[in-house]
Amino acid sequence: MIDDTIAAIATPIGEAAIGVVRISGRGALDVARQMFRTASDVPIEGLPTHTAHYGFVIDPSSGERIDDGILVIYRSPRSYTGEDSVEISCHGGIVPLRRVLTSALRAGARLAEPGEFTKRAFINGRLDLAQAEAVLDIIRARTDEAMRVARSQLDGVLSAEIRALRQSLVGIMAGIEASIDFPDEVGDADTTEIAAALRDAIEHVKGLLDTAERGKIFREGIVAVIAGRPNVGKSSLLNALLRESRAIVTPIPGTTRDAIEESVNIRGIPVRTIDTAGVRDTDDMVEQIGVERTKQMIEQADMILTVIDASEGFLDEDRDLIRDVAERRFIVVLNKCDLVRQEDACRLSVEIKDWMQNELGVSAPIVLTAAPSNEGIKELEDKIADTVLSGGVSPAEGALVSNVRHREALENALESLGEALHTAQSDMPVDCITIDLRAAINALGKITGETVTEDVIDRIFSEFCIGK
Ligand code: GDP
Repeated sequence: MIDDTIAAIATPIGEAAIGVVRISGRGALDVARQMFRTASDVPIEGLPTHTAHYGFVIDPSSGERIDDGILVIYRSPRSYTGEDSVEISCHGGIVPLRRVLTSALRAGARLAEPGEFTKRAFINGRLDLAQAEAVLDIIRARTDEAMRVARSQLDGVLSAEIRALRQSLVGIMAGIEASIDFPDEVGDADTTEIAAALRDAIEHVKGLLDTAERGKIFREGIVAVIAGRPNVGKSSLLNALLRESRAIVTPIPGTTRDAIEESVNIRGIPVRTIDTAGVRDTDDMVEQIGVERTKQMIEQADMILTVIDASEGFLDEDRDLIRDVAERRFIVVLNKCDLVRQEDACRLSVEIKDWMQNELGVSAPIVLTAAPSNEGIKELEDKIADTVLSGGVSPAEGALVSNVRHREALENALESLGEALHTAQSDMPVDCITIDLRAAINALGKITGETVTEDVIDRIFSEFCIGK
């Protein structure tokens, strides 16, 4: 099916000790033969699979020796792509890598498209689609937990559950079809039994969907907005969270003057915190725009940290802000607690709690902090994690749905199964069940790739980098 040979640089472009050029396809060994000579002069064609050989990269058009390096050979089907593959490790600079790649192209390979190695692995059955997607998630993981979720998906934990589920539906389907095709031998389908099996399947899908919220949080993180009046300590709080997170801190480009975005790792959850311009009523035009934007950000946030200055008490503006976020997931941060006596801070926190309860009928965690000295920051982190994960289960247990595409497929499957169950419980002919059942089987197959269309596959792999 695939008969051309692809090549790409598989490592980042820049100065590095080592860089890797990857070649895969039916002609990979032939390409390698023309552009690489082993130091011992052993012909490439004779090299055993999974062995490494020191030698020289040659420009096939001129015979010039370009660089020295190591060639690793993988023979089909025991390779990442399932095809004959070769990896050449050379010096890691921009020029050596480009020249080694050019040599491969001159020797008959063509430049790989983004994700094409992994796409070939999928087409050749080395990985299913969910596993292929996990490869990208591993590369993109921003926290240990995000990587653990992706790793378990690459190991096939999710795929195995989806397959088992799909298999059970195929079993129900086969039973119904047999009863239609061979009524004399098989007898009528037992709709009570079918309904029970469908109910089991529905519970199973629901269980997987229940993990989706948590999975998405670990994979993509959440957006937390820090809001409050000017000078209550929003920036200080953001800084304290950054310091505590001890994690990869990535400033997010496109930062506006009135909002500073940073990504921090809070208990394994990537959290994008946005420090907003002070929320307050203002007549100043410029400030009004800032305030408007803050309100928009609050609307889009997964969680809001409303900051209150303990040394100034619980003001009307603080009440307005809490009113604005009352329907959302939020935490009240009572900051500058170092400036007041402990019992006053406690009294204030009770006042806020009672007000929220009596005025708005809501409750939210209240955390006492002093941002510049890091007081209360650990507790705040715990509360953030608890609030988003509602209970906080470790991501490593069982299959976790972390991908929006998978979630949609499960939702479609659930809907179809619901319809099928409805039909099974009504007086409709039993073959009507098969229509929805087939839709559910197809929906599940989209996750692992059995029933997915070409354009979806193309879209998934186009997100990859070249060389992966
Ligand atoms: P923002 O306008 O809400 O971002 O407030 P900032 O973080 O810029 O803080 C305003 C001022 O309050 C700064 O001088 C901070 O050093 C100070 N500040 C912030 N948090 C605390 C705190 O917990 N205790 C004390 N004593 N000062 C604080």
